[in-house]
Amino acid sequence: MYFTDLGRKKEIGAHCASIKIESFHILVDCGMDPGTIGTESLPQLHYLDSTPLDLIIITHCHLDHIGALPVLMRRQPQARILLSVPSQSLLFPMLENSYHVMKRQREESGIKEYPLYSKEEIESLREHLCSMPLDTTRIFQNQNDEIEIRFVAAGHIPGAASVLLQHKHRKIFFSGDVLFRDQYILKGARWSKAHVDTLVMETTRGLSERPKDQTAQTETIRLIEAINATLQQGGSILIPSFALGRMQEILMILHDARMKKQIPSDTPIFASGLGLSLTEPLDQLSAKNRELIFKQHIIDDLKVRSIQQSPYLKPGQNPSKPSIFVVSSGMMSENTPSYNVAAALLEHPQHGIFFVGFCADDTPGKKLLDTPFGELFSFDTLRHRAPVRARIEHFDLSGHADREELLQMALQMDPRVIILDHGDGEARQWFVDNFAELAPHIQILNPEVGIEYSI
Ligand SMILES: [Zn+2]
Ligand SMILES: [Zn+2]
Repeated sequence: MYFTDLGRKKEIGAHCASIKIESFHILVDCGMDPGTIGTESLPQLHYLDSTPLDLIIITHCHLDHIGALPVLMRRQPQARILLSVPSQSLLFPMLENSYHVMKRQREESGIKEYPLYSKEEIESLREHLCSMPLDTTRIFQNQNDEIEIRFVAAGHIPGAASVLLQHKHRKIFFSGDVLFRDQYILKGARWSKAHVDTLVMETTRGLSERPKDQTAQTETIRLIEAINATLQQGGSILIPSFALGRMQEILMILHDARMKKQIPSDTPIFASGLGLSLTEPLDQLSAKNRELIFKQHIIDDLKVRSIQQSPYLKPGQNPSKPSIFVVSSGMMSENTPSYNVAAALLEHPQHGIFFVGFCADDTPGKKLLDTPFGELFSFDTLRHRAPVRARIEHFDLSGHADREELLQMALQMDPRVIILDHGDGEARQWFVDNFAELAPHIQILNPEVGIEYSI
């Protein structure tokens, strides 16, 4: 088998990995780096040699896993796209939103190459899709060669799959983005601990150490207390959230807290457009899938309104009434609703900006978390600078498994080879060091981008 990391750099960025097993050439994911602009955000598709792809496996519908799919299909029109049944419902709203965002960025910032694909190209993906339910197996054939592919529920977000490939006696397991604990919206991953030959695992949280007495439950309680304290002092709260998964999870947490009378029931709640438009497909998927627990009535009960209906928020402007903003992007990327709301709230001490997920290096979210209280923070694209006076906090409710959980799970699967994937350099290094100490017999591959490794 041959493995090539086709991401932008050795970082989280745009997830895309190529594997060749005998006659099969398979790509796992084809994402777009959310922190990079223009064609630079695409995976290194030029490394794909002239061999046509047979299958493109999509692990889940976050943009860093699907954002470049229409560009790839232009070059590989014969390939079939394999994805889970829930992912099939989420793929199109996510890509269409990405198209509209790029179109707007072209108009506002003059990025000429945007949008990187047309609406017709998104639509034409439909004829290549091959969907399968989670926790099922299918066999694919190439003349006399065959491969078995199994999707295993990965937690993380609705539709997310880990993928088991079995070719003859060889088992290769891709973790995808994985979360083992149950969320409000979704049950956790259901991995078996059975032995595999090769494990390709995400390393997102390699640098995040969870304190011993901290759990997602204790962080949820702390978040609710912080929201309540902020509202009591007349402040508003911004919770930057990814539109798919995280936003609905936070809304479910708020719903639960309101039912238990832990937060006031009359505070207006605003969410951003894509997150709201995903609630309908998620509600329909929940009706057919016991693992998924999202219900449309959550939005109705909370009287969630679109951010576009909020009193227009300008940089530095105080909201007229204490409100809760659960808006994208989760990393507070430039020119997104969370970036704009932060520019309104940051300089006023009564407000709170509460991060609930992972912020990659170089994103405004990470920069704000690293800016000390009282110092100036620059909203470059708004040409606005403000001192940090609001309460800035991070609550560890990440949608990714803790590094210790992944480590233990990997050791139990006892693979011959572990390939480190989808993580920044230092995060991967933590796994390299720990595997070297705990399991020196396992071969650890920390691949360079664009190099084909024989395994
Ligand atoms: Zn993800
Ligand atoms: Zn990811």
